Amino acid sequence: MGDSAFVPVANPAAELEGEMGRQVRAAIEAVLSSGNYVLGNQVAAFECEFAGFLGVDHCVGVANGTDAIALALRAVGVHPGDEVITVSHSAVATAAAIRQAEAIPVFVDIEPASRCMNPALIEGAITERTRAIVPVHMYGHPANMPEILAVARKHRLKVVEDCAQAHGATIGGIAVGSFGDAAAFSFYPTKNLGALGDGGAIVTGSAEVAGRARLLRQYGWAERYVSHVEGFNSRLDELQAAILRVKLCSLSAFVDRRRQIADRYREALLRDTSIEAPSEAPGCRHAMHLFVVCADRRDELRAYLASQEVGSALHYPMPIHRQPAYEAYGTTPEVLAATDQLYRRMVTLPLYPRLSAEQVEKVCSALQDWSRRD
Ligand SMILES: *Cc1c(COP(=O)(O)O)cnc(C)c1O
Repeated sequence: MGDSAFVPVANPAAELEGEMGRQVRAAIEAVLSSGNYVLGNQVAAFECEFAGFLGVDHCVGVANGTDAIALALRAVGVHPGDEVITVSHSAVATAAAIRQAEAIPVFVDIEPASRCMNPALIEGAITERTRAIVPVHMYGHPANMPEILAVARKHRLKVVEDCAQAHGATIGGIAVGSFGDAAAFSFYPTKNLGALGDGGAIVTGSAEVAGRARLLRQYGWAERYVSHVEGFNSRLDELQAAILRVKLCSLSAFVDRRRQIADRYREALLRDTSIEAPSEAPGCRHAMHLFVVCADRRDELRAYLASQEVGSALHYPMPIHRQPAYEAYGTTPEVLAATDQLYRRMVTLPLYPRLSAEQVEKVCSALQDWSRRD
């Protein structure tokens, strides 16, 4: 790949270059001839290996990350009409999943530094209908789980972590996904661990929650053709599981590489006080899914980067409570002030493990040139 080319924000196809590509193709071939395509040995093996990677007892593969959140909520005992406290600064999937579980999202604001749920605001959002909290480890930065869990315990609320952007993130060396009653992962192709299609997983330390999730993902079947509860169809297929097994072997190295690139970007941004790089709270390991900076003249910065063949993106152009479908769940503007403040200033820079050193330097030079123009 020529480094004179445009640097994209993400490039999942690049992960298929070289040895990993050969292994992925071999894994696909093996599934093709196995005659088993949905919820078979590959899924079972991946569930074990991913649980092992995280250090959790149970993993249940499902069709995508949105389903993983929705089914996890049902599995921990969230019922239709219950309120679920979450953040508006997330992928819309977080709120869509809460609605899919027939619950009501209640948004609280974020901490500007971590860009994650502000634990101090949870108690003010609790009502007699509140049943659960869904913190999001946004961009790969862990939410403040110790404080969120303390509030949850005090009020007997369930916690389902949205780990869709945080494969490889830790707090005190412990993987996110092992703090709540359950957690949800997405394997959408651009995530830190990405399939070549859709995929997701629920992880939990509870055999009971895992058992319920297993029933829910396949028609409520406890045995073939007999539904014990009303269920859904949210199965992980063998091809995706086989691909994920190959890619899981490189996840740690890929997260290390993401962090290395992030460090280089931070260094390049050091002299420019008009652009704020993402921070990392003490004791936390940021999984660097996305490198999101804040800039006062965000749109001008993006135009300049594009002129230098450097891609950028907005994650996301609108917080959930500003999107037409979810306006009804919004509150008074002051309540989500930090969320509203952030989305006007943020911009995502190119970050993926197979960015070459030359591409990284190209991004750094563009950022430094922009700073010098001020
Ligand atoms: C990607 C994502 C999801 C949803 O995952 P899908 O696999 O696309 O359904 C949920 N939450 C967050 C924060 C995400 O980034």
